[in-house]
Amino acid sequence: MLILERQKSSQLLYYQALLRRIYEHDVEYEDFHKQLLSLEAGHSGEQRTDREFIDIALTHPHTLLYNLELLNAQGTSHQIDSILVTPNFLLILEIKNMNGTLFYNATHHEFGRIRHNGQVDIFSDPFAQSHRHQTVLERLLHHWGFMLPVMYVVVVANSNVRFDQSLQHYPILQLSGLRLYIERLFEKYSIEYVNTTELEKLSTYLLSTLHRPAVKRFVAPERLQKGVLCAKCQFTEVMVYVNRTWYCPKCGERNKKAVHQALHDYRLLISDRITNKEFRDFVGIESMQVASKILSRLGYEKIGDKRGRVYIISEDCL
Ligand SMILES: [Zn+2]
Repeated sequence: MLILERQKSSQLLYYQALLRRIYEHDVEYEDFHKQLLSLEAGHSGEQRTDREFIDIALTHPHTLLYNLELLNAQGTSHQIDSILVTPNFLLILEIKNMNGTLFYNATHHEFGRIRHNGQVDIFSDPFAQSHRHQTVLERLLHHWGFMLPVMYVVVVANSNVRFDQSLQHYPILQLSGLRLYIERLFEKYSIEYVNTTELEKLSTYLLSTLHRPAVKRFVAPERLQKGVLCAKCQFTEVMVYVNRTWYCPKCGERNKKAVHQALHDYRLLISDRITNKEFRDFVGIESMQVASKILSRLGYEKIGDKRGRVYIISEDCL
């Protein structure tokens, strides 16, 4: 039973929009590009793990929650890749998509990877991170009156990986070993602490704590390419509005809906609210009436009247 479907994280959506809009000559272009690649790799690792769960086809009643973002009592956000909730235990999955040889130095909380070419990369400590998630969830469960054991495991969704000896005693494994790992957990924790009804109640409680913090928009709008961009030209060409449609002068593409992508980017990168003037400035239309017609056809919620009118770009504007 899958409850919360995995969607792209708000951070991944932000970086995808950013890379469509940031100029290639921008001083931070390369850094943003690297960050996007890493987020995309993470997302595909998570999707691979989701598919593995379908293959595993657990016979025990369970729910799987994806990308759960919780707030602890101190207001710090906890983003958890996956949680498997069963009557016997709750398992936090921290998913990594990396290749090379992984190593760990517990004293210094140093988790790293030696690439095939010898280059060493250091990452934040996934065990310390998972342990923080575990503590938060234990407190929540205790608060709700559930006595379920909470555990965590780091799953590496990449078969091109080796684990160094230093990781021998830590809960980390390859995705292909997940099935056996879960089977062993059921053997070890054979007592059912909750029944099916309580299991559903617990999953609902967890979902009710869901917190989706908005990603901080940290790049000034002046650094971003304006306009309705042509998807066929990999968002490198600005389209013009001719005969009630968007037209790409480079490839000849005509697409009435191309403006949706532009507003999706505007919402992620600049603001979820837009006035007629801001819209004209962003998409390159001079006529206030034409802009007004396009905006009203989009059916967004409106606040205010006439000149002071603000449109709220909906989350599903694509
Ligand atoms: Zn084009």
